[in-house]
Amino acid sequence: MNVIGIESSCDETSVAVISNGKVLSNLVASQDIHKIYGGVVPELSSRAHLQMILPLVKKAIQESNIQKDEIDIVSATAGPGLIGALLVGLTFAKGFAYSLNRPFIPVNHIEGHIFSGFLMEEKPQFPFLCLVVSGGHTLLLYVESDLKIKKLGSTIDDAAGEAFDKVSKLIGLGYPGGPLIQKYAEKGYETEIKFPIARLKSKYDFSFSGVKTSVLRFVQKEYGDTKIPENDLANIAYAFQNSVVDALSEKVELALNNYSVKSLTLVGGVAANKLLREKLYQLSNKYKISFIAPAIEYCGDNAAMIAYRGQKLYEAGLKFDLNYNVYPSLNKNTFIEE
Ligand code: ATP
Ligand code: MG
Ligand code: FE
Repeated sequence: MNVIGIESSCDETSVAVISNGKVLSNLVASQDIHKIYGGVVPELSSRAHLQMILPLVKKAIQESNIQKDEIDIVSATAGPGLIGALLVGLTFAKGFAYSLNRPFIPVNHIEGHIFSGFLMEEKPQFPFLCLVVSGGHTLLLYVESDLKIKKLGSTIDDAAGEAFDKVSKLIGLGYPGGPLIQKYAEKGYETEIKFPIARLKSKYDFSFSGVKTSVLRFVQKEYGDTKIPENDLANIAYAFQNSVVDALSEKVELALNNYSVKSLTLVGGVAANKLLREKLYQLSNKYKISFIAPAIEYCGDNAAMIAYRGQKLYEAGLKFDLNYNVYPSLNKNTFIEE
């Protein structure tokens, strides 16, 4: 079975073709225009998607070496994300599905991330514990099957990726923050600089706005309006990254104590973080379960995961008509139970 996937929820336009679960092509065009603004500008994002979508579709099909009429399903991200951005990909997908006379399957972007581990050679085994850490979401999930996902916890304020992006901006490193913080942290050392993590009453929930505020206070107090020296930047990045990774690992371990699972998966843009991957890998060893984190190209936004999820929904017998519309938030078109 051949599936084309289209992703346009934020600032990456991506098109992929998968065949029987194997990725034949996965093209990602990241929008650089947002860098100068320090964050994604929705209107600019929609326009960039419009420019990129058709050439990417053509190229992805060409690279996959299958013919257009060999495509069995057309799937695209329907939400959550930026409405204008989503509309570009979803509308294109509907038209394409109509012209090919093939089923159109709208996919929930976060469910795309959740099952992205299945794009790897070693697949997660059900039931598995899944930590979703992305730019807009932080979720701890117990995944029983393709269609049964139980939410254990989520962030009560900022998402993990958002915290990386905001802290990066406030110490002057730029956007997107995750890779930059990681790069600086690698040059940093353990010092007296510590950013405390929030202690929450609810067992599996997260909070990252406190860490961000304590970085802000520290920087204001120590440097005021002056430039932060390179060495200090590295040590601040190091301390901040440690705090976030510790906060995430702590909750994962708590869940591993209370839920019996076969695998642990780490997905979403922040899953690219080396320290986080290392910490969760160690945890999986301790609990004698397998650890699956997608290759870096499938951590951030990509259409391969959308195609994969689209195929699963199709195989489950779900049908959608061409009136299907985009949606901004997580709680639609999803099998995640509160
Ligand atoms: P969502 O999936 O919640 O809709 P999104 O699609 O914008 O949000 P992703 O593309 O999945 O988010 O992830 C982007 C985030 O990942 C950004 O916040 C970015 O800073 C973060 N990120 C990328 N690489 C790293 C890294 N090495 N370490 C930490 N964070 C990282
Ligand atoms: Mg992005
Ligand atoms: Fe994402």
